Amino acid sequence: MERSCERALEIGLPAIAFTDHADFVKVHEEQHCVDIAGYLDCLERCRAKFSGLRILSGVELGEPHWFPAETAAVLAAGPLDNVLGSVHCVKLDGAVVDASQFKEREGVDVAAATREYFAEVAAMLDGGQPFEVLAHLDYPKRYWPAGAAAYEEKDYEAEIRAVLRAAAGTGRVLEVNTTRGDRLCPDLTVVRWWREMGGQAVQYGSDAHSPDRVAEGFRVATQMVESAGFKPARDPVSLWRR
Ligand SMILES: [Zn+2]
Repeated sequence: MERSCERALEIGLPAIAFTDHADFVKVHEEQHCVDIAGYLDCLERCRAKFSGLRILSGVELGEPHWFPAETAAVLAAGPLDNVLGSVHCVKLDGAVVDASQFKEREGVDVAAATREYFAEVAAMLDGGQPFEVLAHLDYPKRYWPAGAAAYEEKDYEAEIRAVLRAAAGTGRVLEVNTTRGDRLCPDLTVVRWWREMGGQAVQYGSDAHSPDRVAEGFRVATQMVESAGFKPARDPVSLWRR
């Protein structure tokens, strides 16, 4: 976290938010849910050390609608500035599968699994959990199998619009995740739909996972959200409004 703050100052960011994962499904052995008390301690140390940088707290809740008690326990640690909700996993034939593993799994119809993914995102939005930002809406496209027909937003337009309707109807912010500079998630087509469906705001996330990737892809994201009709908001700094 300290090195990410140093990096933020080096590249001229006015602010940074740390939204560590609170994942309650264990997909990888090394995966763990945020130690929220330790996280907040570290955040305070960063705030004391980097007084010229605005440091926001946050968390990325994974499938919070499946884990209301665990979610409440994380959020009870104190008010957080930026709470993201995300879906990584869906249930396929009774098994919980991360979308990054669709391609490795025998007999998975990727298009059907992706429709299931969007249905799960809509369920999360309607699930009454207290998060304000919808993270990486089209996450499965990052791990699209090389052999399958290319991912096209229009093939899932009805499902994506249903997600956007649920997000706009509950006053959520849409995250434009830059995948550490690799690709926009979601990209222009979906952000335009977001505006059409009444979406009010977008915010960036670089999903950095390491200090050298902080804010990677934000220039491209800026061009994209501006061409979709959003303008910078005064506060907080990463928010863009219609
Ligand atoms: Zn995520």
